[in-house]
Amino acid sequence: MRLRNVTGSREAIAKSRFVIQEPQKRKNSWRELFGNSNPLQIEIGMGKGRFIMDMARLHPEINYIGIEKYSSVLIRGIQKMEKEELPNLYFIRMDAEEITDVFGQGEVNKIYLNFSDPWPKDRHAKRRLPSREFLNRYRIILSEEGNLEFKTDNQELFAFALEELEPAGWHPDQVTYDLHHDAEMMEGNIMTEYEERFSSLGNPICKYIISAIKSGESKES
Ligand code: SAM
Repeated sequence: MRLRNVTGSREAIAKSRFVIQEPQKRKNSWRELFGNSNPLQIEIGMGKGRFIMDMARLHPEINYIGIEKYSSVLIRGIQKMEKEELPNLYFIRMDAEEITDVFGQGEVNKIYLNFSDPWPKDRHAKRRLPSREFLNRYRIILSEEGNLEFKTDNQELFAFALEELEPAGWHPDQVTYDLHHDAEMMEGNIMTEYEERFSSLGNPICKYIISAIKSGESKES
């Protein structure tokens, strides 16, 4: 993603009530923040926040956290929340590499990755959010019944993401190479900013839903 620096975004984020400062201190107690025991779902790499805000509005019975690495991008989500406050949504500005410092074991019920940066060079493969290195982190924070949903229009990244599943001990539950023409997987689909942009150019959207193989569970089950 090409980034334009937004002057003052760091300062605005540091004092925003929609952003959790020092999120490590909330580890294992996120439900207290929301004041309920609703499921917790997170989007990693939320960009300007359109998807996670739409989800939070549609599902008041679910708690949401949007995670974004860059202040200049996150600030756009904060500006939207200032116009329309959603009680079941907070943001964190962080690098997802630190995700296990922020969420405890099994604390998260679902992870969304939407149009993650492709990092096309081989030597950067570990930075890709659906890489095995990240899958190992996600496994720790996801609950027993938890799963992960990933969408992209990038065919190479999607092929890579599928190849990473077996070595990381995950299995695909549902896969499509053309989400917008897959009636079953399209049901309830919420478009992201990138999804709208790339599907309007005619790019098919790939999506998988995956879950971690538990110890004692066979890969076929
Ligand atoms: N999810 C949005 C969408 O679909 O419209 C934005 C997609 S954009 C291509 C990817 C976003 O992920 C960028 O805003 C980028 O800053 C963020 N990102 C990339 N790597 C990240 C990381 N390691 N931790 C947190 N955010 C990250």
